[in-house]
Amino acid sequence: MKTLQEITSCLGGYDADALAVDEARAVVRAFLSPVTTNERLALRAALGRVLGEDIHSTLDVPAHDNSAMDGYALRYADLRPDGMTTLRLAGSAFAGRQFDRRVGAGECVRIMTGAVMPAGADTVVIQEIVSADGDEVRIPAGQKRGQNRRLKGEDLAVGKAVLRAGQVIGPAELGLLASLGLAEVTVRRRLRVAFFSTGDELSQVGMPLAEGQIYDSNRYTLYGMLTRLGCDIIDMGVVRDDRISLEHALKTAAADADAIITSGGVSVGEADFIRELLTQLGEVVFWKIAMKPGRPMAFGKIAHAGHSAHFFGLPGNPVAVMVTFYQFVREALLALSGRVGDCTVPLMQVPCTSAIRKNPGRTEFQRGKLTRGTDGRWSVCPTAAQGSGVLRSMSEANCFIVIEHGRDSIKPGELVQVQLFDGLV
Ligand code: AMP
Ligand code: MG
Repeated sequence: MKTLQEITSCLGGYDADALAVDEARAVVRAFLSPVTTNERLALRAALGRVLGEDIHSTLDVPAHDNSAMDGYALRYADLRPDGMTTLRLAGSAFAGRQFDRRVGAGECVRIMTGAVMPAGADTVVIQEIVSADGDEVRIPAGQKRGQNRRLKGEDLAVGKAVLRAGQVIGPAELGLLASLGLAEVTVRRRLRVAFFSTGDELSQVGMPLAEGQIYDSNRYTLYGMLTRLGCDIIDMGVVRDDRISLEHALKTAAADADAIITSGGVSVGEADFIRELLTQLGEVVFWKIAMKPGRPMAFGKIAHAGHSAHFFGLPGNPVAVMVTFYQFVREALLALSGRVGDCTVPLMQVPCTSAIRKNPGRTEFQRGKLTRGTDGRWSVCPTAAQGSGVLRSMSEANCFIVIEHGRDSIKPGELVQVQLFDGLV
């Protein structure tokens, strides 16, 4: 594992005081050591977890050729290419109850969706175009060989790699595992994430607010984001801005958690002892990232009692906390949880309905509302207030408008990139 120093020295023109968003992401990515410990879980309990083993199919799914439609199974070779063919009805096949002999020349079998294809039959004709009179069945011309037949193993074939370690188990994966008959599955243990807020001005919810105090909201947005990411969380409350309290909190967290997230205390105006302390406890860099909101951020690893944890020191402003979390921490925590592959949230291009002022040289994450017009087309509009302390902007928005580092002001109607807050469950 490289040190942070070694990683940053590989970056051409690395400047901790004006780091581009992509450079910061690259440093974070290169400095992560993911969880490798596994546990066995009952299938349903594995929903949302990271798979800890490769899964190969031990079965053919489906196990037999079967019908994709309700209709008649027959031998394609029996059909006349140019006109009506009359076949004799030899019996029926239902899902779970198959036709028990071979289909002979000139015969057909009534078949239901999912029923095993009778031996000898290779084609299914849908019932809607067939006329049946007693055991005489008339089939029109124009059928295709093999139509409406699902092949054995077309979903999963014996020996085929179905899922890879590092994939997340979503509803589709749960279903796939179930279709292989697996009642238990090996997953990575959950990531343990400790978090706390720093600031002498912070008051707890449910308490009266003294003069000059504000309620600690960051711990609630962090709680929400971490819980939705599926982490095991350790909420350490509010920690006072003094050396002894902070040192104690950081050491406790480093001894126990895989990652530590703090809010506040990393901006330029904050006491120097925080930097000193973090540097003493491990390897932490302090960045001023070329982004808005969320400029200051500290990142690294700290250790205590023979155990180390990744450290993310987020800014104090409530919107900056959420933006830096979504843009850096989310992806990092997913990778730390053992997920492999690209976990970035996709960007899409849509027209922006109003002007946005911006100077090149930083990435901006405006809060936007993506809506569909009466013409059916989607467009985005920034929310009214964009201050980094205005948490309401996150609640009113349903997406980020991501304005790239090099980009200038946006004129109404110009295409911009958006990143949706919500996805499929
Ligand atoms: P700081 O980075 O500590 O200088 O904080 C920047 C701004 O964010 C200040 O206005 C703080 O009052 C505010 N702030 C810091 N922590 C929190 C928190 N946990 N909840 C709400 N606001 C906060
Ligand atoms: Mg503070």
